Amino acid sequence: GYRSRAAFKLAEIDDRLKLLRPGARIVDLGAAPGGWTQLAIERGVTDIVGVDLLPVDPLPPAQLLEMDFTDPACGPKLIELLGGAPDVVLSDMAPNTVGHRKTDHLRIVALIEAAADFAIEVLKPGGAFVTKAFQGGEMGEVTALLKQHFTDVRNLKPKASRAESSEVYLAATGFKGRG
Ligand code: SAM
Repeated sequence: GYRSRAAFKLAEIDDRLKLLRPGARIVDLGAAPGGWTQLAIERGVTDIVGVDLLPVDPLPPAQLLEMDFTDPACGPKLIELLGGAPDVVLSDMAPNTVGHRKTDHLRIVALIEAAADFAIEVLKPGGAFVTKAFQGGEMGEVTALLKQHFTDVRNLKPKASRAESSEVYLAATGFKGRG
């Protein structure tokens, strides 16, 4: 079985987008407890690095870092471990909520923006970025940024995600490169 229910969401997304395949280099942001990494490995991925604030029980051949993604040293460390530019950056990161709706929303959006900036900085041309996102408020700017850099940007709402009503996933495919 999978370590998380989130694995079923990524499975649905990947059934459509076919990103997880042998030979693909993958980064998994917010990897704990490891469900997405498990699914990637099950679908034939061997080059995968993940990071989380929390430790993740080993999932060979994945390399898993216990670190804060917003630490400026984290991105370079992930790429060093991966040994080259990723084909796919995945992010399921979600900060702990403080219970104040607006504050929580802004913190989530800041994390999504950090993941998007990283993806744009490191992806191979043709690459893809998939991130947990939330309907409403402040998503306009990051969506516009992704539309500049990817040929296709869409919202996906996996059936396995129904319970958490405002949760959606944003999938940006066809990275145009850094010119
Ligand atoms: N995709 C995972 C799976 O299938 O097992 C579930 C991820 S869970 C919904 C969100 C994770 O994001 C948490 O484990 C949390 O610790 C992590 N997270 C939140 N902020 C982070 C940060 N700044 N750096 C790294 N991980 C972070």
